[in-house]
Amino acid sequence: ERWGQEVLHCPFCHGWEVRDQHIGILGTSPMSGHQALLFRQWSSNITLFLNDTVEPTEEEWEQLAARGVTVVDGAVARVLNDNDGGRLSGVKLADGHVVSLEALAVGPRFVANTGIFSSLGLTPVQHPMGVGEHLAVDEMGATEVDGVWAAGNVANLMLQVLPAAASGSMSAVAINNHLMAEELQQDLADYRASSNRPSPDSLSSVPARGESRIGAEVS
Ligand SMILES: Cc1cc2nc3c(=O)[nH]c(=O)nc-3n(C[C@H](O)[C@H](O)[C@H](O)COP(=O)(O)OP(=O)(O)OC[C@H]3O[C@@H](n4cnc5c(N)ncnc54)[C@H](O)[C@@H]3O)c2cc1C
Repeated sequence: ERWGQEVLHCPFCHGWEVRDQHIGILGTSPMSGHQALLFRQWSSNITLFLNDTVEPTEEEWEQLAARGVTVVDGAVARVLNDNDGGRLSGVKLADGHVVSLEALAVGPRFVANTGIFSSLGLTPVQHPMGVGEHLAVDEMGATEVDGVWAAGNVANLMLQVLPAAASGSMSAVAINNHLMAEELQQDLADYRASSNRPSPDSLSSVPARGESRIGAEVS
C-alpha cells in the first residue's frame, strides 16, 4: 500500500524526499548492501535488515560499519503503518521486535509488460543483474523481429524518465530510416519499370558543367 510513498527502491528517484530520515533497507538480494550504502548518502540513519536473505561479505561488513549503517539480523515479517494507515511507521521482525522507520527501501523485481511483444514472437530475457525481465534490443532499440523496435523500460529496466524518452527518440530515428528505405525501394522499383527512366546512353557520359544528365540547362 505504501509503494512509491515511503516504500521505495531508488535513491536517485526518492532520495531527496527521504533525506535525513530513518530509512530501512529490506534485504532482498546481494545488492541490498550496496543499496544501503547509496541511501547512506541521503541519511546518517540507515538500518539494513538482513531478512534471512542477505549475507554480507567481510568487505561489506567493514563498509557498512565504516559508514555507520545499523545491521539487523532475522526475517522481517511485515511492514507496519501508523494508526490511521496514512504512513509507514516501521517493520515487525519474525521474532516480534518492532523497528520504527520513516521509509523502507526494497529491491523489487521488474517485469516489463511484454504481452504485446509476445504476440509478435518476442520472448523476454533475464536482466544480467537479476533485477527482472526485459526485451533484448540493439543500441537503436531493434528487436530480433524485423520491423519491431522497443524503447524505454521494456527494453532496459534501469532507465529513468530522461534516458527512457531519449531511447524512444533513437528508436524513432531508426524506424524512420527503415520506412524511408522501404519507400525508396518501392519507388525505385516503380521508377525502373516506368518509361520515364533515362536511357543508359544518356547516363553514360559525365554531364558538362551547367548541364543536367538529361541535357537540360541547369539554372
Ligand atoms: C516508484 C517509482 C518511482 C520512480 N521515480 C522516478 C523519478 O523520480 N525520476 C525518474 O527519472 N524515473 C523514475 N522512475 C522510473 C520511471 O518511472 C521510468 O523510467 C519511466 O516511467 C519509463 O518510461 P517508459 O515509457 O519506458 O515506461 P512506462 O512509464 O512504464 O510507460 C509504458 C506505458 O505503456 C503502457 N502499456 C503497456 N503495455 C501496453 C499495451 N499492450 N497497450 C497499450 N499500452 C500499454 C503502460 O500502461 C504504460 O503507461 C520511477 C519508477 C518507479 C517504479
